[in-house]
Amino acid sequence: MELFNGLIKETQGLLEHGSPREWAYRPGGEWKDLGQSELVLQKDAAFELGASGKGSANYVLFTSSSELVSSDRVLLYGPDLKEIRGDTDFARIVLLRVGVLDDDNEQVYRILKDIEFAKYHVYPEGYMVRMSPENYREQVRVSKQAIRQSISFQSIGASYIKAYKKDPNVLNATVIFLTAPGFDYKAMKDIAKKANDATNTLTHILEGLSTDCSVCALKDVCDEIEGMKELHFGVGDKGAKKEQH
Ligand code: SF4
Repeated sequence: MELFNGLIKETQGLLEHGSPREWAYRPGGEWKDLGQSELVLQKDAAFELGASGKGSANYVLFTSSSELVSSDRVLLYGPDLKEIRGDTDFARIVLLRVGVLDDDNEQVYRILKDIEFAKYHVYPEGYMVRMSPENYREQVRVSKQAIRQSISFQSIGASYIKAYKKDPNVLNATVIFLTAPGFDYKAMKDIAKKANDATNTLTHILEGLSTDCSVCALKDVCDEIEGMKELHFGVGDKGAKKEQH
């Protein structure tokens, strides 16, 4: 299944004018994890990433292609945490190579959701994450103390990679951070929405609901995302019939 490959390529297109710093994942290089959420008060904060009024986007894309995702690494477009001087634009994009996607069974949706939930189990010290899944945004308040202790995107990225790789279905994880102004954060949010629509459409497909595209409420999603219709008519064969327009 290659449902998200088009969105990975769109993402690469949005990033092509930037030159990232890159770090290979090194187990043991994660930032200290508190195991539970921490409140970083405004008075203790150095700055906020993706704060209200700033660009912000957050999404995860899956693939089974080793050409698109081939290693565990962290990419950073823009200043690192210790170089940031005030509230800034922010995106965190995760690309995962996942082995299970070729199974084409009803567990796929559940497995993808479980993998996505790994992001809720990362609690770096001095790095308070607030997500708005409905807006595809992520906002982070970074403490002055964490800056003094040299927190970096290399170590935060490693924390996320470690969390994603706890799931044996995840073969490789690339975590991309953006802090530079000038990127199209709105377009990233649009990709995030399409990815979310694609995952949710899988539920409909795997439940074997309507197979008549002409009356299906999800037609817009399936028209836009390559491979969706093939998926519906290839699996969930509880009465699946030929596509009708
Ligand atoms: S393939 Fe057609 S019937 Fe199936 S979810 Fe998409 S639009 Fe609906």
